[in-house]
Amino acid sequence: MCEVFNSATKPYRSKPILTLLEKVRRIAMTSIARNKLKLASHIGYLPLIQQSRLAKKRYFSRYQTPMWSDDAAKVMFEVHDEPHNVVVDLGNHTCSCRSWQLSGLPCHHAIAAIACMNGRPENYVHALLTMGSYNKIYEFHINPVRE
Ligand SMILES: [Zn+2]
Repeated sequence: MCEVFNSATKPYRSKPILTLLEKVRRIAMTSIARNKLKLASHIGYLPLIQQSRLAKKRYFSRYQTPMWSDDAAKVMFEVHDEPHNVVVDLGNHTCSCRSWQLSGLPCHHAIAAIACMNGRPENYVHALLTMGSYNKIYEFHINPVRE
């Protein structure tokens, strides 16, 4: 996101500060409007980028071997990912590879464990990555300014 912002503002960095800020405002205004249009026609629990990331992880989850640890809540798993084993806790949304905690999306270990319990990985995605949060983010707009 920083790289995209830097690339968009690069031509204006040598301009006076007010001109630079006006360009940044315009970039933000058009970006918000463009993203709002893209999301308006989308129906689903997750935005397209998150769906695509989850599908990629789901593909790699087929190479994992989850083993339930026989806990009462049915949330603790040991997942064999050669040459390492990882521990997945579906109740706390954690995996010892730490990918789930960092990204908010279940990692391929967790998806294997979720599939073992006949669950849906979408239900384990962090709330900030869902369409509800995206719609809240884009419910506001930047007012146009007359020069
Ligand atoms: Zn993991």
